[in-house]
Amino acid sequence: MLPQNKCPPEIEDYVSAQSLAEAVAAMADGQGSALAGGSDLWAQKDSGNGRMRKRLVNINRVPDLRGVSEAGGVIRLGALTTMTELLESTLLRDKVPVLAKTADRFASSQIRNVATIGGNIANASPAGDAVLPLIGLDAQVELVSKRGKRSLPLDSFFRGPGKTVMEADELIAAVEFATPPKGFHGVFCKSGPRPALEISVVAMCLTGILKGGKLTGPRLVFGAVGPTPMRCVKTEALIDGKALDDALIAEALAIMATEIAPIDDFRASKWYRTQMAQTFLEAELNACR
Ligand SMILES: Cc1cc2nc3c(=O)[nH]c(=O)nc-3n(C[C@H](O)[C@H](O)[C@H](O)COP(=O)(O)OP(=O)(O)OC[C@H]3O[C@@H](n4cnc5c(N)ncnc54)[C@H](O)[C@@H]3O)c2cc1C
Repeated sequence: MLPQNKCPPEIEDYVSAQSLAEAVAAMADGQGSALAGGSDLWAQKDSGNGRMRKRLVNINRVPDLRGVSEAGGVIRLGALTTMTELLESTLLRDKVPVLAKTADRFASSQIRNVATIGGNIANASPAGDAVLPLIGLDAQVELVSKRGKRSLPLDSFFRGPGKTVMEADELIAAVEFATPPKGFHGVFCKSGPRPALEISVVAMCLTGILKGGKLTGPRLVFGAVGPTPMRCVKTEALIDGKALDDALIAEALAIMATEIAPIDDFRASKWYRTQMAQTFLEAELNACR
């Protein structure tokens, strides 16, 4: 049994929003919890982590939060886009295969059918997988509330485990990113004791424009090696547009190890996480040569 001060509030009210206007109205007093796929919210319901508020706002029937589309060189993923949709969308498979590769390493097919992009972002787990390629794509997250709309870089959205800059009355409406240009290269690597249904012990996404063995405009993003998803900007600057020879790769591995902040916990030690992060980066930089 949880200590008294850790008990989740009773759910006093349930709203099944049929439109965006109804959803933001139900969230407006800051007492609502959005329910998307429920794969995190339900599992955490009794944990007392403070994310379950007294009004449950089911957003699944809000058409404006759905859909994968491309217009004017920008790809938009509605917050309710599921991992299965990332795997099955022809647009994404053709233009952003790194998203499908990530979804392919995500949970099991049952969970992928319900787990949404919006839920993965809002949950703000340091081990949230789908967030990594989206940061690697310089995605913007669109937030909506009764007060209006705002967009901010996904990279600046996270404040700590379970903590974001999102206000209690806001919903994630969508994520958007520029359609990757020709030559775009994106890889996702994930480590855990099992090949599937695994929470990442270390995950990495590396993106950039690959030409002649050089990666230009690289983005190097790690999961589960710090309190939030972590971009290694010094390592990115070091390798940007340069020939990836042995000496540069060795330097990149050393610098990257100073940028991540893994901890020892029951899943893995700090040492192991650092080794895995270096192993992933070394393999993927060598693959670019
Ligand atoms: C068995 C199992 C395996 C899993 N494996 C993985 C894995 O491999 N990789 C991984 O990253 N995760 C994994 N997860 C975690 C989970 O499936 C994902 O984080 C998923 O993307 C959450 O999405 P959801 O739609 O289910 O969110 P929900 O559970 O509905 O919501 C999660 C949180 O986000 C909030 N929220 C949801 N949508 C919005 C929105 N549009 N705007 C504002 N707030 C919102 C909710 O209020 C809640 O606080 C796993 C979970 C389970 C149970």
